[in-house]
Amino acid sequence: MPDDPSYLQPAPLPSFGLEYAAAPESTAIVSIAERYQLFIGGQWVEPRSERWFTTTNPATEEPLAEVAEAGADDVDRAVTAARGALAQWSAWSGRDRAKVLYRVARVLQERAREFAVLETIDGGKPIKESRDVDIPLAAAHFFYYAGWADKLGYAFPGRRTRPVGVAGQIIPWNFPLLMASWKLAPALATGNTVVLKPAETTPLTALLLAEVLQEAGLPDGVVNVVTGAGETGAALVAHPGIDKIAFTGSTEVGKHIQRELAGRDTRLTLELGGKAANIVFEDAAIDQAVEGVVNGIYFNQGHVCCAGSRLLVQEPVAELFLDKLKRRLDTLRVGDPLDKNTDVGAINSRAQLDKITELVAAGVAEGAEMYQPQCALPEKGWFHRPTVFTNVALSHRIAREEIFGPVLSVLTFRTAEEAVTKANNTPYGLSAGVWTEKGSRILWMADHLKAGVVWANTFNQFDPTSPFGGYKESGFGREGGRHGLEPYVELDDLVAT
Ligand code: ADP
Repeated sequence: MPDDPSYLQPAPLPSFGLEYAAAPESTAIVSIAERYQLFIGGQWVEPRSERWFTTTNPATEEPLAEVAEAGADDVDRAVTAARGALAQWSAWSGRDRAKVLYRVARVLQERAREFAVLETIDGGKPIKESRDVDIPLAAAHFFYYAGWADKLGYAFPGRRTRPVGVAGQIIPWNFPLLMASWKLAPALATGNTVVLKPAETTPLTALLLAEVLQEAGLPDGVVNVVTGAGETGAALVAHPGIDKIAFTGSTEVGKHIQRELAGRDTRLTLELGGKAANIVFEDAAIDQAVEGVVNGIYFNQGHVCCAGSRLLVQEPVAELFLDKLKRRLDTLRVGDPLDKNTDVGAINSRAQLDKITELVAAGVAEGAEMYQPQCALPEKGWFHRPTVFTNVALSHRIAREEIFGPVLSVLTFRTAEEAVTKANNTPYGLSAGVWTEKGSRILWMADHLKAGVVWANTFNQFDPTSPFGGYKESGFGREGGRHGLEPYVELDDLVAT
């Protein structure tokens, strides 16, 4: 590396005077009902609570539909349905369970555009992400776990597997269909039955998935969907008929659930928050690293538990890197999530936008330096400009707290040891990124970073075959891969010892 990497200095961008024309995805493929009931025992039923809530399009603030809010009675009915279906479903051969899961995967592929448009309307993420990431990965999870359903003896050699029983699965709003698939596919492959609680701001794709499950031949009661907010989730956690809770969401609620379950014979996995470091060494391929950092924090508006929300850049290249990063930010297209050119869509809810705005204001007040491209934001809807903070101290709130928005905090480092100390200086431990051309350094960093996933020269790569999960306050338990089967099986020895 020369002392003065002037050959890497950014050249001015050519200007052709061309603007992107609007390229909106048609919504004709989606039909949204006025009201959605609860899906219990294979039937659509009125909520006994007699309560409903509204789900809203965050890009327009327009109400989309009324959705049933399950009360404790409704949750009880769903758990009873799941319990009732358990004996039949768990007695099915692995091959027959696999057939249903394969069908689900194929229907998701066939109806991919419909799911993608619905996901984008209900949640605000750019259509190119729901189309190219969320929906294909959801299908891939069903394909992958369909493959395991008749091979559990190979996943756990020498052991016989039994399902754990009735699983309560509570999912967040950042990847609604994908999180439903992460939870459902391994649970069903191993013969469990499920009560699924989608997040209150994004229930629509989980409800459409319920239709698909039925169409694919899943017996009644094997999957039940109870919509509602925190109270509904809490009723599910409190229900004595649940054998396992799988939760993805905030660390605060995760801690609460863990306290609730203490002393009960209910298994638990938690996938919680993060404050990941994306670490760029001076020998990294700088342009690729800029793309990786942008993808790491602005993908899905930063509503990603494993988002690379702290950039750690090695001092000799810090100035150059930040120049390039800011120029790249200027080219991000923020706006209508249904536009195929959009890079950064809508913030999922007014409450989340308020939280991001509050933390950004704290960053400015604590003395960090803020950079935002001056792009125009739509007049309606909840949007936030991609934001970079420099001159950040480890003590700043923006360096410590999970923002869950398109906000990057930049710190610098001199040595690999210092990078590790700074990266690990967080209560979280979900993911990290390392950018360097030195293989030995990648391995050394991966050994020393306290993070469930370490990406090297890439970021936010997901694959159903690869386990995902955290350390410390990011939770415990793994989803994906063979490891993702473990939370859903009881293991018996085949040979008496
Ligand atoms: P976020 O802060 O990102 O919205 P939450 O942890 O609040 O994340 O939400 C994740 C999921 O947990 C949602 O489905 C939400 O309704 C549910 N939830 C919220 N509070 C509770 C609770 N006390 N018990 C169980 N589930 C809850």
